[in-house]
Amino acid sequence: MNTIYVDNNATTQVAPEVVEAMMPYFTKLYGNPSSMHTFGGQVGYAIKEARVQVARLIGASPDEIVFTSCGTESDSTAIWAALRSNPDRKHVITTRVEHPAVKNLCEGLVKHGYRVSMVPVDREGNLDLDYFYDHLNNDTAIVSMMWANNESGVIFPVEELSRQVKERGIVFHTDAVQTAGKMPINVSRTGVDMLSMSGHKVHAPKGVGVLYVRKGTKFAPFMVGGHQESGRRGGTENVASIIGMGKACELAVAKLEKEMPRVAGLRDRLEEGLLRRISNSMVNGNRENRLPNTTSIAFEYVEGESILLLMDQHGICASSGSACTSGSLEPSHVLRAMGVPFTAAHGSIRFSLSPYNTEAEMDFIIDKLPPIIERLRAMSPFWQEAVAAESNA
Ligand code: PLP
Repeated sequence: MNTIYVDNNATTQVAPEVVEAMMPYFTKLYGNPSSMHTFGGQVGYAIKEARVQVARLIGASPDEIVFTSCGTESDSTAIWAALRSNPDRKHVITTRVEHPAVKNLCEGLVKHGYRVSMVPVDREGNLDLDYFYDHLNNDTAIVSMMWANNESGVIFPVEELSRQVKERGIVFHTDAVQTAGKMPINVSRTGVDMLSMSGHKVHAPKGVGVLYVRKGTKFAPFMVGGHQESGRRGGTENVASIIGMGKACELAVAKLEKEMPRVAGLRDRLEEGLLRRISNSMVNGNRENRLPNTTSIAFEYVEGESILLLMDQHGICASSGSACTSGSLEPSHVLRAMGVPFTAAHGSIRFSLSPYNTEAEMDFIIDKLPPIIERLRAMSPFWQEAVAAESNA
């Protein structure tokens, strides 16, 4: 059975070109990049090159790139750096739909004496800008706002908001873990001070991340140790993965223009095919303003986990919109924040594509999913009730 992988917001396949670029750093080129000798120095040079490749993807300068271990570390580093560098400010603004890497950190800040404002979203996943402006104040140390949401794909107006925030002398961090490589980013056109990326979302390996730190931004390292990363992140570099990250970013630059519109076309084909063939199904989130690879579709009156299990039997890998907490399947905080009704949130499936997907794969899913939903609805008391209510109406 072939695997049809449409769960790329969870993680991506490492590109073969990336594997190839990494290989020498596991074997022949094992020197320490900080060593004085030529053997180590050539590794240091390769890391420098990777920094240039990453910088190019987001319009930064190479010395603004800090390599970390993952997106989560980049997020934590950015938020703590802003708070430590602005000790007199005790207010943080974030959103209600952040990834746990930011959400859980910000919620925990309350225990450290911070006030945290979480900007709500509407039914389509768009930010409540009135709330945002009402809460921005002179005590705000940092605004940490994702560029695009990992579940709905909805894009936030980071360029514009970051410029306004910067004018007020407040640090702006954006979690661009899902955005980088999927849509053009040019930090020089924004007021973004810090930006997080993660290797395993851009066809590089797991265990490598990037934090962009704008020149002049007050900074305090999260990992204190050696002088690596110009003193901004201690620890001997994860060399092979950094080289892989560089290569992945180089490939992403090349793919943005041609491949991403094709991916959006595949996503739309899948979405339209499923919506046409399955009644009581709808897209969660703003369809006009979202990542090209993502769709979250609610299939009312069925459980997402059951859908995933049955799709898995056909080799189809996707995600549900639920999180398993304390033994009960709760709809995700993102779908709850959007106000998606329980009957729809429970049956929500996120499909996230990559340039490796094909039209034939989309058609396969469009063929296999309708009978799965039909079978599950036949067993669903909620569906029976809904059908009965409709026929009585
Ligand atoms: N931020 C977002 C928006 C994500 O989607 C993820 C991972 O799913 C992360 C942060 C965390 O990245 P990592 O897995 O590299 O720690």
